Amino acid sequence: MKEFLLDCSLEELGRIVTPPYRAKQIFQWVYQRYVSDFGDISTLPKAVRAELNERFTLNAVSIAAKQKSVDESEKYLFRLADDHTIEAVLLLMREAQEDGDRVTRQAQWTICVSTQVGCKIGCAFCMTAKGGFKRDLSAGEIVAQVLAIKRDRQIPPEKSLNVVYMGMGEPLDNLENVAKAIGILSCEFGLHISPRRQTLSTSGISPKIETLGKMNLGVLLAISLHAIDDETRSKLMPINKAYNIESIIDATRRFPIDLRKRMMFEYLMIKGVNDSIDCARKLVKLLNPLRAKVNLIAFNPREESNFERPDRASMEAFQRFLLDCGVLCVIRQSRGIDIDAACGQLRERLSPLLRHTVS
Ligand code: SAH
Ligand code: SF4
Repeated sequence: MKEFLLDCSLEELGRIVTPPYRAKQIFQWVYQRYVSDFGDISTLPKAVRAELNERFTLNAVSIAAKQKSVDESEKYLFRLADDHTIEAVLLLMREAQEDGDRVTRQAQWTICVSTQVGCKIGCAFCMTAKGGFKRDLSAGEIVAQVLAIKRDRQIPPEKSLNVVYMGMGEPLDNLENVAKAIGILSCEFGLHISPRRQTLSTSGISPKIETLGKMNLGVLLAISLHAIDDETRSKLMPINKAYNIESIIDATRRFPIDLRKRMMFEYLMIKGVNDSIDCARKLVKLLNPLRAKVNLIAFNPREESNFERPDRASMEAFQRFLLDCGVLCVIRQSRGIDIDAACGQLRERLSPLLRHTVS
């Protein structure tokens, strides 16, 4: 089987092609001019194109289906070389831009990528967990999701976008490949997405948070906290039995972060489980030592689930309590909920609607 060119960092490609500056050219053609065939790289000698073609393929993923939401978000189902499928989502966000003393809001694309086929962590509320774990994605398979979406939507190469590692899988359970993908995505001759525009979300594997911190990649971190006491958290997320809340907060405190940025905490609200003001009070206490920002997410119900979505009023009261205590907190809107693209709804299957759009 051919190797994926997208698995190569610039340095690695520079050791393969001669002279090494050709690696930069190849990166530019692939990531900035969106070529899908080595034969189209007209600045390369024919022999080099043939050599590349012999050894590599540019197609680490192919689009099996896509589905657009009313809010312009779009869910992609990608087929991998071994026929597994993964999902990624293009989300249209509004982002505050500071322009002198004026703050304007700008449309901003965010791409949510998968890091594994399935997931081992098995959280009780998560759809991805249902399908079990199949395998890790390679760095190139992660990078390919961003490139394929950018190319498919004809997003201009120079348009900056954000990447969140919040699709299928636990990124810290595939740290080596995810770290490599962060590097390849940020390469200035490639997609040039600064690590500060990349957010890795984790269920909280404390020792891996430490390892990632020591790598000093400049990436942002989001912790899927979801509960303020170990008993509740262990019921929702079995990983908490191995790495409890205290160990996560400890690891997070040592994580290097840009002073202008904050550590993000995802808090999935489930009716009657963790949505009381008492929980909000304990959350404030827990986050006290950190420069934190809390994202409240309403539980997205799925079939065969015992959990319920919280009332809007209880989410707002929770948010108000945090804000009054000086903790930055937003209620994250569920985007793409009509296409099952919202958090926790990604899994390896075609949703009934998608089946009609398979190309
Ligand atoms: N494995 C990583 C990243 C992928 S999950 C993690 O757990 O952080 C991305 C986010 O979606 C996590 O915060 C996760 O807790 C949340 N999520 C999972 N299932 C959900 C559901 N049913 N409703 C809302 N959010 C969910
Ligand atoms: Fe895995 Fe994250 Fe889903 Fe938990 S929430 S099962 S860690 S993908």
